[in-house]
Amino acid sequence: MSAVSMNALAAGGEELLASEIAACERVIRSGWWILGSEVAAFEEDWARWLDTPHAVGCANGLDALEIGLRALGVGPGHEVITTPMTAFATVLGILRAGATPVFADIDADTGMLAPESVLRCVTAKTKAVIVVHLYGQIGNVEDLQEICRERDLYLIEDCAQAHGATVGGRKAGSFGVFAAWSFYPTKNLGAVGDAGALTTASDKVAQAARSLRNYGQTVRYHHPLQGLNSRLDEIQAALLRARLPHLNEWTARRRAIARTYVEQLANPLVTALPLPAESDRHVHHLFVVLTSYREHLQAHLKANEIESLIHYPIAAHQQEPCRTFQRDPKGLAVAERHARMCLSVPCHPFLSDEEVGRVLAALNNFAF
Ligand SMILES: *Cc1c(COP(=O)(O)O)cnc(C)c1O
Repeated sequence: MSAVSMNALAAGGEELLASEIAACERVIRSGWWILGSEVAAFEEDWARWLDTPHAVGCANGLDALEIGLRALGVGPGHEVITTPMTAFATVLGILRAGATPVFADIDADTGMLAPESVLRCVTAKTKAVIVVHLYGQIGNVEDLQEICRERDLYLIEDCAQAHGATVGGRKAGSFGVFAAWSFYPTKNLGAVGDAGALTTASDKVAQAARSLRNYGQTVRYHHPLQGLNSRLDEIQAALLRARLPHLNEWTARRRAIARTYVEQLANPLVTALPLPAESDRHVHHLFVVLTSYREHLQAHLKANEIESLIHYPIAAHQQEPCRTFQRDPKGLAVAERHARMCLSVPCHPFLSDEEVGRVLAALNNFAF
């Protein structure tokens, strides 16, 4: 019996592998390896898939956040409100743009930014709010859009975990002024290495982002902006094009696994985060349970050869570089509690029914 793993990155099957190898060969033989036809084609594919006007490939999701903020002119002297329950890259993106993160608390049910806490964090320096579609579920974009509209703030989406999540027929990434995407290998759409993108409906943001990702050039060797090197490789773009046609089937499998877990989990010591009323809203990048006995549950899973991980054990405001930053004046008690109780169990598209059953059995027979 082999261990049930959190990810099985190379388990996509022989047909996918053959198309990936063909994609790599095509790029190598073309002799054009940076910012060529593959990147342009993937940008077009990704924009069409999301039904958004522009996609700009970059090196990773962190860079996409920095580039988008800088394209909007968000930087020194500005505050950006976000959640402390996120990958630290969200915070680093704000810092690298030169702005200051401000942490709002989260909703206890979903683990995502709580609009009433965001309101308590707004000051005269606030420029933007970054909503993170945590674990693959679209956050409370409806209320956050209204807050941002009324106060003239930018709403930005960190979509690194939410490829394909949809609400009211609109995909994650279409609610903010721009969205940052990561195609890190473990994401719902992953490259074979680092990759990312920014998507936007704004011609201006797209144009600035294209320049910023490539040294701030407009025309070759003309640098009106102080850019960075954050180009998406041709080979990664070609691999992403080979993988994108499978994303819907992978998402369907993730949803089926999550539904099975929620329906069959029956242990008073372990609570699953609830499924959203509209199932399309969630793409289950991670399946997260809450428990007061996390260390013991993790050891129990390990004894049953089941991997688990914690997303995230330390809320961002408690990380060393963030200790002095502003936060909700009422504190961040919900985020701190979530950080103590959350545990992610395997939920990737290549789990077999037998493995799903083993995870469920172990969750259900955990005792303390
Ligand atoms: C993965 C992730 C990022 C960063 O993406 P990279 O490609 O690793 O830079 C940002 N935000 C969230 C929520 C993530 O999960």
